[in-house]
Amino acid sequence: MLPASADVVVVGGGNAALCAAISAAEHGVSVLVLERAPEDEAGGNSRFTAGAMRCVYDGVEDLKALMPDLTEQEIAQTDFGTYTEDQFFDDMYRVTEYRTDPELTEVLVKNSRDTLRWMKGKGVRFAPIWGRQAFKVDGRFKFWGGLTIESHGGGPGLVASLTAIARKNGINVLYDARAVGLVVDDDGVQGIRVRHGGKTGSVKTRNVVLAAGGFQANA
Ligand SMILES: Cc1cc2nc3c(=O)[nH]c(=O)nc-3n(C[C@H](O)[C@H](O)[C@H](O)COP(=O)(O)OP(=O)(O)OC[C@H]3O[C@@H](n4cnc5c(N)ncnc54)[C@H](O)[C@@H]3O)c2cc1C
Repeated sequence: MLPASADVVVVGGGNAALCAAISAAEHGVSVLVLERAPEDEAGGNSRFTAGAMRCVYDGVEDLKALMPDLTEQEIAQTDFGTYTEDQFFDDMYRVTEYRTDPELTEVLVKNSRDTLRWMKGKGVRFAPIWGRQAFKVDGRFKFWGGLTIESHGGGPGLVASLTAIARKNGINVLYDARAVGLVVDDDGVQGIRVRHGGKTGSVKTRNVVLAAGGFQANA
């Protein structure tokens, strides 16, 4: 059922929405997530990914902090290398041919390590991407490309894990709930219009996070 109000309403059901909701809940406020898909199809593009997560790391200690299950034997047999801020910036500029937004890139790169640490602290599990990002040289695995970490269970595992964490933190995740418009007046946002259960209603809120997916699949 559509609640009458929430302190924060997050639109979307992928990684961005769920992380935003979990982050908002840290401030002791009521959080409602609106996911337009039914529960068994929820998670947007996030669900179709490998769950690969690009993040800065200066060596194996950084990786151990994210993946405490790494064994000494795995570490001894592997050259994880490093992925420095400079490498991450270079990759962003090279791949986008310098058309990436510099401010957003800075946020992405400079917060990448802390963001994964925060996710791990919330209960998300990570593992090295042995199968896709490493090859064997002289008996040792060598990682390449700076993409070293994936979430346990890939994209579906990440969505399931974040959803469970959201629920554990008291967040109301509503499925089949499509945001159709903001309620605004001269003082700003006052609520959000939602199509749910065959009806359109409103939820009162002053704070809306739109995390309903990117443009990547939009021709
Ligand atoms: C095949 C594939 C593989 C990929 N692999 C990787 C990878 O390994 N690593 C990586 O980092 N990135 C990968 N990407 C990119 C990644 O999928 C996206 O960058 C990421 O999932 C975007 O997350 P998001 O939460 O912003 O959006 P999405 O995951 O797309 O979620 C958008 C959500 O918004 C909901 N929604 C939309 N409109 C409304 C509305 N009006 N009301 C309510 N809800 C609404 C949707 O139902 C959906 O749940 C891959 C992409 C694809 C397609």
